[in-house]
Amino acid sequence: MLEYQKDKEEIIREFGTSWKGHSEEQAKEARKKYGSNELVELKKKTVVQIFLEQFKDFLVIILIISAIIAAFLGDLESSIVIGVVITMNAILGTVQQKKAEKSLNSLKQLAAPIAKVIRNGETVLLPSKEVVVGDIVMLEAGDYICADGRILDNASMKVNESALTGESISVEKEDITVEKEVPLGDQKNMVFQGSYVTYGRATFLVTRVGMMTEVGKIANLLNNATEKKTPLQKNLDDFGKKLSILILIICAIVFGISMFRGEAVVDAFLFAVALAVAAIPEALSSIVTIVLAFGTQKMAKEHAIVRKLQAVEGLGSVSVICSDKTGTLTQNKMTVMNYYVNNNDYNKDILDNGRLVEKLDNKLILYSVLCNDSTNKGGVEIGDPTEVALCNFAKTFRMDITKTRETYTRVAEIPFDSDRKLMSTVNMISSEKRMITKGAVDVLLDRLNYIETEAGVVNITSADKQRIQLANLQYSEDGLRVLAIAYKTLDNASVSLDDENDLIFLGLIAMMDPPREESKEAVRKCIEAGIRPIMITGDHKITAAAIAKEIGILTEGTIAVEGSAIDELDDEELKTFVEQVSVYARVSPEHKIRIVKAWQDKGNVVAMTGDGVNDAPALKQADVGVAMGITGTEVSKDAAAMVLTDDNFATIVKAVENGRNVYLNIKKAIKFLLSGNMAAIWAVMYASIMALPVPFAPVHLLFINLLTDSLPAIALGLDPHTDLVMKDKPRRANESILTKNFLIDILEEGFVIACMTMTAYYFGYQVDAATASTMAFATLCLSRLVHGFNCKSDRAILFSKRIVDNKFLWGAFGLGFLLINGVLLIPGLASVFKVTALTVTQLLLIYGLSLVNLFIIQLIKWIKN
Ligand code: ATP
Repeated sequence: MLEYQKDKEEIIREFGTSWKGHSEEQAKEARKKYGSNELVELKKKTVVQIFLEQFKDFLVIILIISAIIAAFLGDLESSIVIGVVITMNAILGTVQQKKAEKSLNSLKQLAAPIAKVIRNGETVLLPSKEVVVGDIVMLEAGDYICADGRILDNASMKVNESALTGESISVEKEDITVEKEVPLGDQKNMVFQGSYVTYGRATFLVTRVGMMTEVGKIANLLNNATEKKTPLQKNLDDFGKKLSILILIICAIVFGISMFRGEAVVDAFLFAVALAVAAIPEALSSIVTIVLAFGTQKMAKEHAIVRKLQAVEGLGSVSVICSDKTGTLTQNKMTVMNYYVNNNDYNKDILDNGRLVEKLDNKLILYSVLCNDSTNKGGVEIGDPTEVALCNFAKTFRMDITKTRETYTRVAEIPFDSDRKLMSTVNMISSEKRMITKGAVDVLLDRLNYIETEAGVVNITSADKQRIQLANLQYSEDGLRVLAIAYKTLDNASVSLDDENDLIFLGLIAMMDPPREESKEAVRKCIEAGIRPIMITGDHKITAAAIAKEIGILTEGTIAVEGSAIDELDDEELKTFVEQVSVYARVSPEHKIRIVKAWQDKGNVVAMTGDGVNDAPALKQADVGVAMGITGTEVSKDAAAMVLTDDNFATIVKAVENGRNVYLNIKKAIKFLLSGNMAAIWAVMYASIMALPVPFAPVHLLFINLLTDSLPAIALGLDPHTDLVMKDKPRRANESILTKNFLIDILEEGFVIACMTMTAYYFGYQVDAATASTMAFATLCLSRLVHGFNCKSDRAILFSKRIVDNKFLWGAFGLGFLLINGVLLIPGLASVFKVTALTVTQLLLIYGLSLVNLFIIQLIKWIKN
């Protein structure tokens, strides 16, 4: 017999557990016996593999071939030096890649999925991979199912099994035994790893984990997903390719000229290749990865976990942030302030006496605790803050909640969902099956036929409804969140959505959820940074508007609307409409998608928050989907590009600031690399045209490009962040990093460095060609190291603190300085690196010219600004 054909008790016995779940000891044994809940991942690359991959680059291969040819032709020294330089470059590349990988992996750990497991009768939250066979796992809407298993207890659960069956419509689950042998899709009492709960709740017994699960069997298919390149990386790859072609043409010309002048073919070829290596910025894409990876580490410390590297870039250009209200802009700590029964309003001051005024009060509070899933375990409040607030309220009247719930047992339920905005339970009260429904006032009002007052249950009149609406309006205007409570008696214990009608109104409960202290400042910062903050909430329009006004989102000239207001608009009309709306209330997930799309169609980059299972499509649609780490469902986290560990709006704004800084730093690194390469090209072209001896030996160019250059580039990528980035408008979504001004700067700064280099060359040339080459090489190398400081800013910073604030840059400079001086001064290295001994004056001249380069470029920046 198969698992789904067995009866619950039988299967619990078979897996050696009980309704209270495993003890820790049993869990350990189960892990030993059945293995752990992990899908075997494709083997990670070893360090050696990563190291070898560094040699896969087209130019490096040509270089190796050239070195081999040189060795054959007797120039063993050159080939050894090339070998050493390439190897050191590969080591550097491997270390960087490993570091980036490590930081990305630690992020993955932070974002690992969680399961609610019953162990020893207690509910514990465990990383999904620690779940073992025989565990009892609780599921609710928005949870990913962490293993395969048999449902023990089911409350209207619906599951999306599309990952397994391809069927995107949710299937209803049951907890009864299936008699016949049936295919997977019909195993109604089973759940499967990789599917997720779209509705309702259930508990299930884990029967298979890891590679034994249905998904595990097809896991090899899933393993093939590779990390995609970010738009910036693609943009740079594309640019790199075009640039390479241009450079190769230049190299071919230089090669031709050398041949024409009668140089040996091998020498001319080696030089042309070295020039290509020096000029083609093949490290760009990997530097971007490294800087992005380090950026994500900083963001994780600041409560934003980036799940997709693209998000960092996206964040840098975000121009609209659509945020939930409850918990993101507000504290999600609710306190009941008022309630309404028997056509009267009672406020907190009266309640503070700890005394109930009306006899119906008791009933209202009792029902609010019964139609409620929140609990308190050892002082820790668990559950929806709205429901926690109701329990806390009941406690001020000394109600024992556990006892109350035991007395009036729950026999059925329809869980809350944010589309319906209602929740119902059926409890046994005075041997009657009492259905209690609580939810949004506007939704419930249409479903009322009766009202209970002191006079008893009577038909509800339109005057009653008006009074209720007025009370609702008054509470909402104070920014309170209002719930209505109603009930009716049922004939049987089962309950369906159709039963949520023909109800008896009991009362309203209004609670306060104050804005987070930092929300106001974060909104101000957003607006200053040219970013439009928008509130999108499931709550009531007036409540939402009151809060939005308080924190500065709803401003003069903008309006609050209900989600239904956009139903009548077509996509074109919506595009103009969204401009004026700052608050959307009572929205459904479909509205969210339309709002994101409308803003995107207007050329904006949109960040959007979401927490529910239905928010996943909107999160995917947004350029930066943001999920809530604390209150968000696993499904929303999975769909999001970023997860907030503190659910805080201010964290999104901080992440945008980080995104902008990371982008800026990448730009600095790119400018550094390209302008330095440009300098080498200018110098070589000049020498070629003027028929001078070539200013650099191949090994010089390799030394600079593969060794002393990459560290300052990374250091610039780690340049200290500044909040000045939030004073600018967001960059346009499709704006290339390589704007006209940026390219002009590169040509210009490269030109200045080349001038210094050729000046040194001319001084050396007074002595001989070898001295000229040595001086040109040393000046180019040092000038580029110094140039790192120029690349820190578009402004002149020579006399500001900014020149000293990057310790990595100083470190890179120090190391580069030692290396080049080592080459120049250690006698044994002279012939290896094709340099000659210099006099003190020549050496000082080199230092001086490198510094002059700093002053000139700073002066140009100063004049330009
Ligand atoms: P946001 O979308 O900003 O997070 P929200 O939390 O108010 O806002 P929902 O959780 O979708 O959005 O709630 C929508 C409405 O449903 C609320 O305004 C409230 O009237 C009602 N509601 C919320 N929680 C419950 C609950 N536990 N039981 C019954 N009704 C609820």
